[in-house]
Amino acid sequence: MLKQLVYRSQSISNVNETCLDKITSDSLPFNERYNITGVLLFDGEYFFQVIEGESEHVDVLFERIKIDRRHNNVMKVTEIIVPKRDFGDWHLRALPVSEESSCYWLPPDLSLNRESRIFALLNSFASGKWRTCLSDEARKRLRVNLNTPDMTVAPYRDSSIQFAFQPIVDTSRARISSIEALIRSDDGRFPEDIISSFKGQEKYKFDLETKAIAIHQGAALITPDQSLSINLCPGAITHLPNVGEYLHGLVVQSGLKAQQLVIEVTEAELISESGAFHDAIEKIRSYGIRIAIDDFGAGYAGLSLLADFSPDKIKLDRKITTGVHENGHRQAITEAVLEFANSMGIPLVVEGVETLEEWLWLQHAGVQRFQGYLFARPKLNGLNGIKFSV
Ligand code: C2E
Ligand code: MN
Ligand code: MN
Repeated sequence: MLKQLVYRSQSISNVNETCLDKITSDSLPFNERYNITGVLLFDGEYFFQVIEGESEHVDVLFERIKIDRRHNNVMKVTEIIVPKRDFGDWHLRALPVSEESSCYWLPPDLSLNRESRIFALLNSFASGKWRTCLSDEARKRLRVNLNTPDMTVAPYRDSSIQFAFQPIVDTSRARISSIEALIRSDDGRFPEDIISSFKGQEKYKFDLETKAIAIHQGAALITPDQSLSINLCPGAITHLPNVGEYLHGLVVQSGLKAQQLVIEVTEAELISESGAFHDAIEKIRSYGIRIAIDDFGAGYAGLSLLADFSPDKIKLDRKITTGVHENGHRQAITEAVLEFANSMGIPLVVEGVETLEEWLWLQHAGVQRFQGYLFARPKLNGLNGIKFSV
């Protein structure tokens, strides 16, 4: 099968036309031997290359390209199976791109279908896209120093249920903006198993009532300018009466303000909910308690959910952002969600940030709040300290 793969990378040193010629001539033997064709755009800093050929040859070549020391920040923009080649018998052609390049900058002997993805992608690069990555200078200027202590709270008395807490950090302000309470049982079951060992109304009651523990413990871990997130199944919100009043009571008892409590509901579970859910949410909000969409992007409702139900916070699922620094699809989706969140004034949290590279890309794209093992793992009856400095 024929495959087209597009990647973007950043040159290490000053690449002039001679270097570009050298890159081309170095690549030709392999490309001719395996009948790889394509085009290499270069704007003085970034490369944007399309390679096409038999699928397995393209994969082998991409592995070689990734370890080439003349560039870094290699990011796969996309790969698609195509019925025929777009670049004919050009085993590699290098095209310089400048600021003046417009839609009509492609050489006249290249007749790309104007409806094709490749045509659109080449133009998007020429018009300035796909450059969200840190230059070495910008990286050197970056200063984040986040240092927070380990904290513990007393286990909730006589309870087989306890909570683990994980911080959500605002790296642009070098502070913990909130903490999330995650349910734990003394027999070590996963949260889903703990909750789903109850059925129907019992499940909802259990979920809601255990939040007394989460709020009691969480209140001891946060300062007045931080908030506490708890998770609830949407069913609990719809099918139990007076959820807002109950939670508000707990919050006041623990010495918190209502505004400090955030209820997280997952996107996947929200879909089945109806008008009754929306009414219940309005009541909860009238107390000042806020609502977040959890695991956004992992469910099926997608953007229509945002159109119908305006949350106070969006938590982007880690399925979207894992490896975001090297994946064009994930980058495009993250940027779109961030843009929506910014336009609507809704804070966005990115979940599951595990590597420095993911964080670097995300913060450069404009994300401010992060949750993930890179900063701290959840800690039972407490909060792990953070030592993060770049
Ligand atoms: P969640 O609300 O999305 O919570 C984040 C989950 O991701 C937690 O798993 C946390 O340990 C994990 N996590 C955090 N950072 C990273 C990371 O960098 N990499 C990876 N791979 N994982 C990370 P946990 O504690 O197992 O909870 C799983 C889910 O169970 C939660 O997902 C939440 O939806 C649900 N849950 C937890 N507590 C409750 C609760 O009290 N009630 C209800 N209804 N659901 C709960
Ligand atoms: Mn959550
Ligand atoms: Mn989540």
